[in-house]
Amino acid sequence: MAKDAPGGVDPASVWGKSDSSRRKDKPTHRHLMEPNYRRCISCRKVAPKEAFWRIVKLYPSDQVQLDTGMGRSAYLCPEASCLKTAQKKNRLGRSLKAAVPPELYSNLWQRLPLSAQSEHRAATPT
Ligand SMILES: [Zn+2]
Repeated sequence: MAKDAPGGVDPASVWGKSDSSRRKDKPTHRHLMEPNYRRCISCRKVAPKEAFWRIVKLYPSDQVQLDTGMGRSAYLCPEASCLKTAQKKNRLGRSLKAAVPPELYSNLWQRLPLSAQSEHRAATPT
């Protein structure tokens, strides 16, 4: 086979500064433009998934944990208000279709700045 036809217009180049090297390391583009966007289960904000906490229900054990693992996952803004909503309205449990252990929530609360944590304590009767 010869090289690419000379003078032929590569459709990719129409988009501007596209790669001429045609790297094939990302075969699963579902949306052309958007990278990995996710939606917060509490406020429904959409952002790149790195901006969220990830909560995963592991398959097949149905154990719920943070950050890593294979299975059904939910995303939450790292913010007190979203965490509060997720906990109070069981958004997380409903999204994952699993029981979310209280330790997981306290784990998340501990990731927040102290100011946000105190807000939580004030709102939660012990
Ligand atoms: Zn949110």
